[in-house]
Order: sequence, then structure tokens, then C-alpha cells
Amino acid sequence: MRTAVRRVDPLRPDVRAIEEAAALLAQGAVVAFPTETVYGLGASIYSPDGLKEIFRAKGRPSDNPLIVHVNDMAQLDLVAVAGDVERSLMKKFWPGPLTLILKRRKYGDQVGISDLVTGGLDTVAVRMPSHRVARELIRALGAPIAAPSANTSGRPSPTTAAHVLQDLKGRIPMVIDGGETTFGVESTVLDTTERPFRILRPGAITPEDLREAIGEVILDAGGPVESRPRSPGMKYRHYAPRQPLALFYDPQIGVYACRHLMAKGKRVGVIAPSEHRAYFPHEAMVIDIGGLDDQFSIAHNLFSSLRHMDERGVDMILAELYPPTGLFYAVNNRLRKAAGYLVLSSTAECDAL
Ligand code: AMP
Ligand code: MG
Repeated sequence: MRTAVRRVDPLRPDVRAIEEAAALLAQGAVVAFPTETVYGLGASIYSPDGLKEIFRAKGRPSDNPLIVHVNDMAQLDLVAVAGDVERSLMKKFWPGPLTLILKRRKYGDQVGISDLVTGGLDTVAVRMPSHRVARELIRALGAPIAAPSANTSGRPSPTTAAHVLQDLKGRIPMVIDGGETTFGVESTVLDTTERPFRILRPGAITPEDLREAIGEVILDAGGPVESRPRSPGMKYRHYAPRQPLALFYDPQIGVYACRHLMAKGKRVGVIAPSEHRAYFPHEAMVIDIGGLDDQFSIAHNLFSSLRHMDERGVDMILAELYPPTGLFYAVNNRLRKAAGYLVLSSTAECDAL
């Protein structure tokens, strides 16, 4: 399959490109498109063929449900039931990178949304994106679009059309290229079906933002052992670069690990904040991910840094973790999953690498 790339101005997308993409969606095909978080791989929620195609193209496990992207509140009401608190969150954070887990709407015996979207759960994940291209595409189709990130399952999420092509070229008919995404990390997934609400995936809307809006919100520490994953996506390996990745909080531990690996003849890549990059040996491939006072840049550059390391052909990647505040919750969460939870905290652990 040839993958067409249509470049558009993200602020004033060309109508013909959008209509061409919407026509593909209406025919049961998939299309990759930019959102304010990462690139999505969309299908009409009313097209079983398109929905199945998402799972095939990504190699995504079929029990990992998709996020439904809506353009207005009428589309939300077609698929989900929302109470007052949920609606107040929508009022505050929509359009934007907050996904709400809501009860599925039922019409008599029928539900308003396919099991292909929800993985058979009795809940559905919904958000209203703010990106012009995403909104125009839903408007042109006239139906909500189900879309996970447009990467091969398990790989870092795509923040440019080039990243989408790295993974899906030849597997999907079209990518709308609207340039780099804004946030660079995915939406925050908030489960509203139990009280207090629980963050299932930290993302571009911070825990502090949510607590300010509604008070108590649970955020689990997040670790390798989830006896009963609350979100199907939690149990799969995610965001991983091709080479092994190890994390550290203390830059001195990172430097020690780097020297140790280089002494063994390994080519080492390091992802560190601007303030710490000079600590690392010159021979290491160091990516400056942004200043510690600029959480936005660090989140924005995260996935592209991981993909960049793949291109540089290093043997091992070391990456710094960040103090738990704001967007850093999302950054640390993605890094931990990408590293398979390998965090170095002593020189002995570095020696064992
Ligand atoms: P992605 O769009 O690839 O970033 O993945 C969407 C995320 O939302 C995955 O982690 C899913 O497991 C999660 N998700 C989608 N629907 C639900 C749901 N009904 N309940 C819990 N988690 C969900
Ligand atoms: Mg994803």
C-alpha cells in the first residue's frame, strides 16, 4: 500500500486534504493525523473495518481500547453518559488533552459504541481534541473518530509525520502532516466511574490542574506489578526505543553508569536536562532535552529523543528522571515504561549492567 503524505498548515488546514482524509475514513480506511498531544491513527467509530484496521496496522492487542475523539457535546452524548462533575471537567479542559473514562451509553439492548472501540468494557474513553486538523477531520466525517497513537504498538509515540512513516509507511493509506505536535505526550486518562476519580495515565493535563478543579484525585505510583490493571493499556510494554534503556534520578549515578558502559566498549546515549549535560563524557551521545525549569520542552522533546537514539545506533541509553510535579509525572511515567522500570540507584546496580 502506498502511504500518501498531505502537508497542511496546522492552523488553516487545506479543505481538500481534510475531505480526502474524511472520505477514506468513511470508506472504512484509517488515516494518521496530528493532535495537540501526539499523532493519532483514526477510524470512524461506525466502521468495523476501519476499527479492525487500526489494530492490524499498529499490531495492537485487541483488548486495548481506543479513545473516542469528538467534535461537540452531541457526539459525546451518542456514546457516553456524563454527570455534573464530569461535565464541569469538560467545560474546563475541553477542547484539550484530557480523556475521561465514562459509562457507555445504552439504547435499549444496544450500546452506542462498538466493542471494537471499548475492548468489550462497559466504559468508554472520550476526549475533545483542540488541534484544528483533528477537529476539521471529525467535522468533515460527521462522526466521532476512534484513535490511538499512530505508532507501532510498543514503540515511542509519534510527534511528527516522519515518526508515523518510520512505523507505518506502507501499512496505512494516508498521513496528514501538520508539523510537530504541541505537547508531545499523550492525553491524561481520568477514570470517572469510581470516586474519587483516578488518573490511569498521567499526561498533558497535570494532576495539580485536576486537583485544583475537583479536589481529590488519585494517582498511583505506577510500577511493574499491577495485579489487576485498571486500564488494559497498563499491562503492555510501551514507548520503548530499540536499545535497552536505564534511568537514574541522581546525575552522578548516570555519569557513573555512562563511564562504566564506555569502559566496556559500549556506545552510550544519554538523555539529560540542559543543566546536567556537561557532566557526561564528551564521547557519549548526549541529547539535551531542555531546561529543568521548562517542563513543557522536556515533555515536547521526550519521544523524539527516544526515536533519535534509535537512529544514532547506540548500544544503551541512559535517561534522567525528574522531580514529580506537573508535566514531569507524564514524562517519568513514559520513561519508566520505556525502560521496563529499570531505575539505577547505586553504583553496584551500574556495575551489573
Ligand atoms: P493510546 O490512544 O494508544 O494512547 O491508548 C489509549 C489509552 O486509554 C490506553 O492506555 C487504553 O488502555 C486507555 N483506555 C481506553 N479506553 C479505556 C477504558 N474504557 N477504560 C480504561 N482505559 C481505557
Ligand atoms: Mg499509544
